[in-house]
Amino acid sequence: MAEPEVIVVGAGLFGLTVAERVAAELGLRVLVLERRSHPGGNCHSETDPETGIEVHRYGSHIFHCNDETVWRYVNRFSGFNDYRHQVWTVHQGRIFSMPINLGTLCAFYGRTLSPDQARALIAREAGEPSGRPPQNLEDKAVSAVGRPLYEALIRGYTLKQWDTDPRLLPPEIISRLPVRYGFDNRYFNDRYQGIPLAGYGGLLARMAATPGVEIRLDTDFFSVRDRLPAHRLLVYTGPIDRYFGYGCGHLGWRAVRMEREVVASGDFQGTAVVNYADAGIPWTRIHEFRHYHPERRYQDRRSVIFREFPCAPAADADPAYPIRTAENRRLFEAYRERAHAETDTVFGGRLGTYRYLDMHQAIGSALKCFETVIRPRLEGRPVAAAAALVDQD
Ligand code: FAD
Ligand code: UDP
Repeated sequence: MAEPEVIVVGAGLFGLTVAERVAAELGLRVLVLERRSHPGGNCHSETDPETGIEVHRYGSHIFHCNDETVWRYVNRFSGFNDYRHQVWTVHQGRIFSMPINLGTLCAFYGRTLSPDQARALIAREAGEPSGRPPQNLEDKAVSAVGRPLYEALIRGYTLKQWDTDPRLLPPEIISRLPVRYGFDNRYFNDRYQGIPLAGYGGLLARMAATPGVEIRLDTDFFSVRDRLPAHRLLVYTGPIDRYFGYGCGHLGWRAVRMEREVVASGDFQGTAVVNYADAGIPWTRIHEFRHYHPERRYQDRRSVIFREFPCAPAADADPAYPIRTAENRRLFEAYRERAHAETDTVFGGRLGTYRYLDMHQAIGSALKCFETVIRPRLEGRPVAAAAALVDQD
């Protein structure tokens, strides 16, 4: 490849969206460096060799969004099936619908409740409102569903997931889940939902195959940093603290490890994801991937499942979730300051901006970054000072 104009570090959804836009829209060459042996980042999927079932290597990924632009963009690379995510959670040997809805409340309290009765019951369980918005995950959850349900279905799961006192975690983590006083038990409210018909692996491979984009796999940016070809712009989507050699300290990250098992059943658990709420069970969820593609014909003698174990980042478990405690957010501010001084580098994605982005948000933020920062830079136009990506919400 001739000299690239742009080098992108990380072939996740953010990096691939930027690379595709720069190559397809501006006709410029892009070199993407990816330390793993496949493109796609955490959304990557592949065919399980033993069962032929498409598995999401880093855990279940369900696409959902309300943004028409993002939906149209992603559909250029694959159509989507009409899968709608529903989750159940196991607590002390009983199974409950998640997110919490009228069905969960009736089962948990062992009563037939009308929506009004359920609202009144939860208001009593939640206690007196403090008058100020909840400041942390525990306050937010207790004010939304009451303490008994918080203790049963949220506290243990949250401790396993984050290994952090829920009173130190931000309320937004739990606001991701709706609470419904009806029997609707879909995990997401969004207008557009589904799984790519081509699989995430297929969708991401099509993005990566954009003419003008070259991907170098098994290549860690930090190993080749001193011998990169000349380029005009670097887009970095790895962990921001690593970029700066941890100079301001280590940010808190959570990772996940998957344990695969092939089971002698055509249907192990009847649905794609079952959560395990109790602290005594070491995994948070079991994924059974065959359920994501009802349109495919899989063999029905065996099924493949992954047990998910949250853990600290390690050699076999990359940082995946930012632990956005007040202390970590302060630390991130120090990195953000340093990022501003790097005038030829744009920081993006979940790891580069230390944000809990879903796939549609990673794509949306990459499209915005392309239009407001990257395109003007490459076309020689001035970029508004406030438009550095690390500042964008
Ligand atoms: P990533 O996918 O993390 O990509 C970053 C890439 O950079 C990686 O491939 C990494 O290997 C590479 N990299 C890092 N450092 C270097 C380096 N030094 N040199 C070269 N390459 C480097 N979102 C949803 O919308 N729905 C879901 O159901 C959903 N489920 C999820 C489940 C789990 C367990 C996790 C962890 C995330 C989930 N997400 C989900 C979020 C989704 O994975 C992210 O939104 C998306 O992956 C963000 O893309 P990204 O490009 O920012 O980051
Ligand atoms: N959560 C919980 N119990 C559950 C599911 C979720 O307590 O059964 C909490 C937990 O703190 C989790 C957060 O809600 O981190 C967000 O859940 P989500 O399923 O959106 O997490 P993700 O899929 O991003 O890991």
